[in-house]
Amino acid sequence: MTKTIAWHADKESVYHDNNKCSRAESIPATKRRPGAADRPQCPECEKLKVEQK
Ligand SMILES: [Zn+2]
Repeated sequence: MTKTIAWHADKESVYHDNNKCSRAESIPATKRRPGAADRPQCPECEKLKVEQK
């Protein structure tokens, strides 16, 4: 299971919750903020969830 707690980055309009997400990988840990911040889920994270990766 690669689902993580939800987090977001200030420069993005979505949140991530999967550590296989390529968009998430481009964001350094220091730029990550905890929580979804009322943002929609990242489409790639959503796709990974559907595929159960
Ligand atoms: Zn993502």
